[in-house]
Amino acid sequence: MERLAIHGGTPVRETPIYYGHQCIDDSDIDAVVGVLRSDYLTCGPAVAELEQKLCKVTGARYAAAVSNGTAALHAACYAAGIKDGDEVITTPLTFAASANCILYMGATPVFADVNPDTYNIDPASIEEHISEKTKAIVAVDFTGQAAELDRIRSICKKHHLILIEDGAHSIGTVYKDIPVGNFADLTAFSFHPVKTVTGGEGGAILTNDESLYQRLSIFRTHGITRNTKFMDLGMEYAQGHDGREEWYYQQIALGYNYRITDIQAALITSQLKKLEKFKLRRQEIASKYNEAFSNFPGIVLQKEIPESDTTRHIYLIQLNLDELTAGRREIFDALKAENVYCNVHYIPVYRFPYYQKLGYKKGLCPCAEKLYERLITIPLYPAMTDGDVDSVITAVKKVVGNYLK
Ligand SMILES: *Cc1c(COP(=O)(O)O)cnc(C)c1O
Repeated sequence: MERLAIHGGTPVRETPIYYGHQCIDDSDIDAVVGVLRSDYLTCGPAVAELEQKLCKVTGARYAAAVSNGTAALHAACYAAGIKDGDEVITTPLTFAASANCILYMGATPVFADVNPDTYNIDPASIEEHISEKTKAIVAVDFTGQAAELDRIRSICKKHHLILIEDGAHSIGTVYKDIPVGNFADLTAFSFHPVKTVTGGEGGAILTNDESLYQRLSIFRTHGITRNTKFMDLGMEYAQGHDGREEWYYQQIALGYNYRITDIQAALITSQLKKLEKFKLRRQEIASKYNEAFSNFPGIVLQKEIPESDTTRHIYLIQLNLDELTAGRREIFDALKAENVYCNVHYIPVYRFPYYQKLGYKKGLCPCAEKLYERLITIPLYPAMTDGDVDSVITAVKKVVGNYLK
């Protein structure tokens, strides 16, 4: 057997490859430079253009662009009216922001377990966790594959809950012919550089509901509005004004500065033009991985559901530890020595010290905890060459093969 690089052998790759990387071309650069040469760096036309583009891509009626995906989730929770004393059900196998946004509102995150095959939140576990206090569900499309949205939506209908979709992984994914962004009551996107479409930082919330949209619009800019339509909602005008002066604005709620700049917005709009191309290349790479690993001992693949036409954000291999002589940590380190830099998605949120202090206990979601011990995220991004993909496959087979019982 070939000697592993971690044991002094020759690495499969000469240079490192990372699990994700942005994909920027000259048209993206031109879009940003165009804004820098224009009159508006923020609150200008590029933001409106991005919002129109997002509506076009998703088919949703309203889009509110914000400064990042976490702000998008916070705004969605605000618009949904989540408050102190409410419970909101979400998955532990996600980035902390999916649950933190619930805490921001003074509400309690309740963690439902995941499906052991798809890794997405399990609708049956959601039902088990519904109480009198449940107000909403934050469903995450983990790895880009849509959660079981139909079942989750019927649970929401039955119990009068609001469905918030964390689509940070899943822009471009289509569930039963409906694009993500046009399914849930509110969908949050992130445009962080590891995501499929980036603005450096950036986020957006999509909705079809006008009153939710109004709440999003106010929340992202201090709770302040110049819109006389909002001002007329029974609000009293500040002393000495009739609200009709051209310079007048009104603060009608306690919002934040979650605005996005025109620089970021232009970059995201430019990136969105390539979404289909990114999606296809991501799917192509995922298929190559599926083919390479589907019958490889020691590796279990994530189950793909036919309802989701997935923009694959990250590709995970699950280690079958029963067949291996090493744990995830050793295999992760051995891959790194081969110059394949992986990642792990995710430490179950409630296992963080902050959540432990809030009283969440180990063992709460056994499937998520078991998966956490076994998952490794291997490189996947559109700019990878076929040679890169082959080298990752070679390295994974070399390392996992080496540790087979
Ligand atoms: C990236 C991410 C977020 C947060 O987005 P930011 O733009 O980094 O704030 C939220 N949820 C999930 C699942 C994510 O992957």
